[in-house]
Amino acid sequence: MTDTTFYDELGVSTVINGAGTRTRLSGTLMREEAIEAMQQGARAFVRLSDLQAAASEVIADATGAEAGYVSSGADAGLALGAAACIAGKDPEIMSRLPNTDGIPDEIVMPRAQRNGYDHALRAAGATIVDVGETGYNHACASSNVEPWEIAGAISQETVAVAWLAKPHVKMDVTTVANIAHEHDVPLIVDAAAQLPPVTNLQRFVDAGADLVVYSGGKAVRGPQTTGIMAGKEELIQSAALQHLDMHVAAETWVPPEDFLQMSEIQGVPRQGIGRPMKVGKEEICGLVAALEAFEAEDHDRRQQEWTARVKHLASRLGEDPGLDPQVSYGEKSGFVPILTVTVDEDEATLSTTALVRSLREENPRVYVGADDLHRAQFSVNPMNLTDEETDYLADRVLALLEH
Ligand SMILES: *Cc1c(COP(=O)(O)O)cnc(C)c1O
Repeated sequence: MTDTTFYDELGVSTVINGAGTRTRLSGTLMREEAIEAMQQGARAFVRLSDLQAAASEVIADATGAEAGYVSSGADAGLALGAAACIAGKDPEIMSRLPNTDGIPDEIVMPRAQRNGYDHALRAAGATIVDVGETGYNHACASSNVEPWEIAGAISQETVAVAWLAKPHVKMDVTTVANIAHEHDVPLIVDAAAQLPPVTNLQRFVDAGADLVVYSGGKAVRGPQTTGIMAGKEELIQSAALQHLDMHVAAETWVPPEDFLQMSEIQGVPRQGIGRPMKVGKEEICGLVAALEAFEAEDHDRRQQEWTARVKHLASRLGEDPGLDPQVSYGEKSGFVPILTVTVDEDEATLSTTALVRSLREENPRVYVGADDLHRAQFSVNPMNLTDEETDYLADRVLALLEH
């Protein structure tokens, strides 16, 4: 399978990854184009602001946004985005975040979209005001939000509306963007895992989002520690000023002109809230190369390959009478076929949980999706598997169920 020499030396088990692009499983395998670009990028010094300015143009072309930026992940993009919405062009606020005493810092967000990654917004100093009282057809559990609930929560204290681009909530992004803009605040969209389809690179900007973040370390297959920010020039500039190393002498600092227009900024800010989320030249090069290759890829062909792979796996696992494998293009992924395997726990020799745990304890570790263990189901996402690894995964599942 893959070349494991260095991991062998360290005594670290590799993973056969049927769980999709999970950060805890190291995200993705970089494309060759990205590896090559990182190697070349590692061999010369550059001014990082010049390199970010060049990346901005590539991201703007890919997304249709005014400008772009490479962050150290989509989550860092959310933190930088929140910092930009709070501080705007004010170097005094940039220098004191996350302290927001006496200044507007609220970000309005549907309650049903609250998630672990929104810690990044709070880390920049934002206070999240979540709205959406009820479900769609019943009074319990917040799964819905109404336009008037978002509008009603926006006040003088609001700096942005935040939106998670997943189908939890049915309202479309254009409606949310319109509400935000009617109240003169920007819309931040977390689209970290919404690629592919490649058309989603433009979809949220087209719908009116002022800032969209994507992971560079998921389907784009750039470096794991990269994210793409795409949005309005003024937000990208503020984010850049709060992220770049600003230990500069004001008299000699001449930033790239088209990227950072300093005329409206009263002086040079200090090291900002984004400074601990540093991005290296190698990562920026890798991300840019990966994004260009992702755009050029034949996505229909990739989808056909994935479909063939899950169908093959379904027929292999179907050999065991205790397993019922079904292919779907579920709500969670949309574009990527997922194999959901229901374990007949009366028939099978192991419970679903015991099976999933045993697979993970092997060497190499074998990971399958485990979000629905309570339904006696595991799942397989084909994105990070080769054909050979797919057969290996099937062999291990069948072998474990045999005794
Ligand atoms: C993966 C993910 C993130 C974090 O992305 P990173 O690039 O790993 O920082 C944020 N939000 C959502 C919805 C995600 O799926």
